Amino acid sequence: MNSSTSTCALYLCPGQQDFTLRDISTFVTQLQQNGLISEAITERENSFFAGQRFLDYVAYMGCSPAIQFEASDTSKNFCHIKIHQYDTAKLIVSQKQSRAPHCPNCNRPVKDWLHNKTEETIRCNLCNTTANIGDFNWRKMAGYARVFIEITDIFPKEAIPQQILLDKLTGICKTDWLYFYSCQ
Ligand SMILES: [Zn+2]
Repeated sequence: MNSSTSTCALYLCPGQQDFTLRDISTFVTQLQQNGLISEAITERENSFFAGQRFLDYVAYMGCSPAIQFEASDTSKNFCHIKIHQYDTAKLIVSQKQSRAPHCPNCNRPVKDWLHNKTEETIRCNLCNTTANIGDFNWRKMAGYARVFIEITDIFPKEAIPQQILLDKLTGICKTDWLYFYSCQ
């Protein structure tokens, strides 16, 4: 695994931007029971080793991926899972390989979005529509939510969450889940 992948991650988040977990420890137990995650990583908050069914849930492209699931002597970066929860919806947007979000009204890419953004909205300078951040199409390179599952050390499109994982999360949370990639 080269250094360019070390700061990229695959994120899963609810499509419903206001969705929040009532109890993060119950959610953790459910993810452990489903085999997405295993034990907590003691020195990192809300972080977990990959579970025994991880590779059923996340499909890696390419012939033989060398996925590192634990820290080694040569590298402290390894694939693990981190749960993030925020009091209000947060935009996690890729700093590298970023894409302009598409306006929900005119459907054109809004290159200047950062200059027309408030906490909750973006104004499209092409058609002068102001819409909620979550209504823009971020083309899988950003997400706007209060809860995120981050799977570290995954380069955009290097691995794809399988429908079975999205279905499990939907079953647990009673809300649809999406995914995207972010590189910092
Ligand atoms: Zn527009």
